[in-house]
Amino acid sequence: MKIRDIRSKDISNTISVEGEVSTINEIRPKLKTAAYMCNICEGIVCLPVEGSEIGKPVHCENESCGKRSDFIHLEDKSSKTDSQQIEIKELDNICDPRSLIVHLEGDLVDTIKIEDKIVVIGVLKAHFQSTSTTGDFVLEANSVEKMKEKKVVSDNKEGTDSSGEIQIIREIIDQLRLSSPSDKVLLEDIYREASNLHIGRERAEKYIAKLRRQGCAYLPDEKHLRALW
Ligand SMILES: [Zn+2]
Repeated sequence: MKIRDIRSKDISNTISVEGEVSTINEIRPKLKTAAYMCNICEGIVCLPVEGSEIGKPVHCENESCGKRSDFIHLEDKSSKTDSQQIEIKELDNICDPRSLIVHLEGDLVDTIKIEDKIVVIGVLKAHFQSTSTTGDFVLEANSVEKMKEKKVVSDNKEGTDSSGEIQIIREIIDQLRLSSPSDKVLLEDIYREASNLHIGRERAEKYIAKLRRQGCAYLPDEKHLRALW
């Protein structure tokens, strides 16, 4: 599923999402079960922790007590696991990549690096700040797999790493824009700069066509290109 296609109706479903890791946060301890002690009989009640909420028991589970009581949270008797929040963004060099928060737990913590391209399978949840009516989509990961780098057969010149070269074209355009007050760039200038970097005109034309298809650039007239990033 594409990150941009995620909607509220997908909450609670198991989905699979591809993306590039853009943020990795600190590893933090997370409560799995919370232990409480009854104030009256000192019996212990363990509750599973759902999502980010810690529920407090209302009635004591101890049969001889069963009273409505105050409960004290017992930090050292509560079970914990490692957790880590990361963010992934859409792949393919698109201009406005959307991102998604992913929660990793247990063995999944610390298994990835920034810029890794991964496939995450998990359950989609919605997280809300306490007073807000608008929340965030969060993917609670069950599995994380690194995507295999696509090996391009390089028996002809077209087969070289095209995502690297398209990046070079974008950088050329960025450079040329700096000296163009109207933000328009001459196509011929792009081809010339590209050829200086050993990207032939035919390939450069192909990359520009790709940028236009992705909605990242358009041609205001025959000779110029305007970038939209
Ligand atoms: Zn009790």
